Amino acid sequence: EMFGQLTSGLEAAWSKLKGEEVLTKENIAEPMRDIRRALLEADVSLPVVRRFVQTVSDQAAGVGLIRGVKPDQQLVKIVHDELVKLMGGEVSDLVFSKSGTTVILLAGLQGVGKTTVCAKLAFYLKKLGKSCMMIAADVYRPAAIDQLMILGDQVGVPVYKEGTEVKPSQIARNGLEEAIKRRIDVVIVDTAGRLQIDKAMMDELKQVKQVTNPTEVLLVVDAMTGQEAAALVTTFNIEIGITGAILTKLDGDSRGGAALSVREVSGKPIKLVGRGERLEDLEPFYPDRMAGRILGMGDVLSFVEKAQEVMRQEDAEDLQKKIMSAKFDFNDFLKQTRAVARMGSVSRVLGMIPGMGKVTPAQIREAEKNLQVMEFMINAMTPEEREKPELLAESSTRRKRVATESGKTEQQVSQLVAQLFQMRVRMKNLLGVMETGSIPALKD
Ligand code: GDP
Repeated sequence: EMFGQLTSGLEAAWSKLKGEEVLTKENIAEPMRDIRRALLEADVSLPVVRRFVQTVSDQAAGVGLIRGVKPDQQLVKIVHDELVKLMGGEVSDLVFSKSGTTVILLAGLQGVGKTTVCAKLAFYLKKLGKSCMMIAADVYRPAAIDQLMILGDQVGVPVYKEGTEVKPSQIARNGLEEAIKRRIDVVIVDTAGRLQIDKAMMDELKQVKQVTNPTEVLLVVDAMTGQEAAALVTTFNIEIGITGAILTKLDGDSRGGAALSVREVSGKPIKLVGRGERLEDLEPFYPDRMAGRILGMGDVLSFVEKAQEVMRQEDAEDLQKKIMSAKFDFNDFLKQTRAVARMGSVSRVLGMIPGMGKVTPAQIREAEKNLQVMEFMINAMTPEEREKPELLAESSTRRKRVATESGKTEQQVSQLVAQLFQMRVRMKNLLGVMETGSIPALKD
């Protein structure tokens, strides 16, 4: 089972929430420790783990309840979505040149599976209907060329070689020339690996890159090496400039650290993964499927998604009705501001509130404090006042009471009431209903 240990480590986190009604700062503390431990044991790099745990905690503490969804299920969903983001979100496709021959340059340390990947990639591209050629530019490992020849035979793809006495950049240049002559769609250049990074290897790669002008420079890394793989991707990117990584040996007992760290640490995507020794064991890297596999809870995820969708739909319809009938009240105000704040774009909702204007990131904290002040005041209103803001507009006694109970000034309460009516108008305008006369003057 891929990432089995990580999966069961995370299961410990969910199990701590069984029987809870809601997610709170307090009751997620222990599950978050489990998540942190599980990720560290999976060999995810420490800064990545820290950021991840922080983000998930923040989200979990502020998340609204979804009808019918239990807190542990909700946390699974939050972790899933953050794992997907961590791995780059979308699948990162191979790029082909718009016309002529596409060059894919493969780099990697010895033993990571580079030569195998070369053949797997040719096999994969052939299935996509592209003609391929492999260039044997690994002149240091004597067996490498023979190995590539054998694989080329298996795949049915020609291999260009000039033995081990010619410079790799020379072989690559000649091979590419030959491929262009034969109108080959994609050329895959297999370069030499070393046991560890050295200057000679980097220089050679730079030369090969220079003469072949590749659209893809992919570093092959071994998933078993965990966060070290992510560090390698970073180094190669700085040294020679790469477009992505291919992660091999995901079928083994790799712990997940590489898959989870590469993107975040290096900024470069994993484009393909190898999941076995056969030619067909190479596939695109899908962050969402990978996250799903790690969590092993596909049913829970789709259930939470459906529930969220239903809630969104109902909320939206409900809100629209209310706005159209000028019933947008303080309960909706609260719900809306919370929802948008949760989505991390406080600035957007504040932009909708007159008097707050545009908000820079630096002011967001201030803005969040303001939201909290609003919440205090709304909490001090009676249910009737929340539903009928007119009551507050019409009575300064009520406004004074709300001020006293929330520890704010009457002026602040008056401002909030005015804001609600202004928001009604704004939202109506947003929906294309022109109406300007509905802001009542506050009465004494
Ligand atoms: P190179 O030195 O980087 O060219 O590595 P090779 O392509 O020769 O592969 C080294 C070893 O790893 C070989 O025994 C391969 O069969 C094996 N290997 C490569 N990719 C995978 C993979 O995705 N899964 C598994 N289980 N083994 C792999």
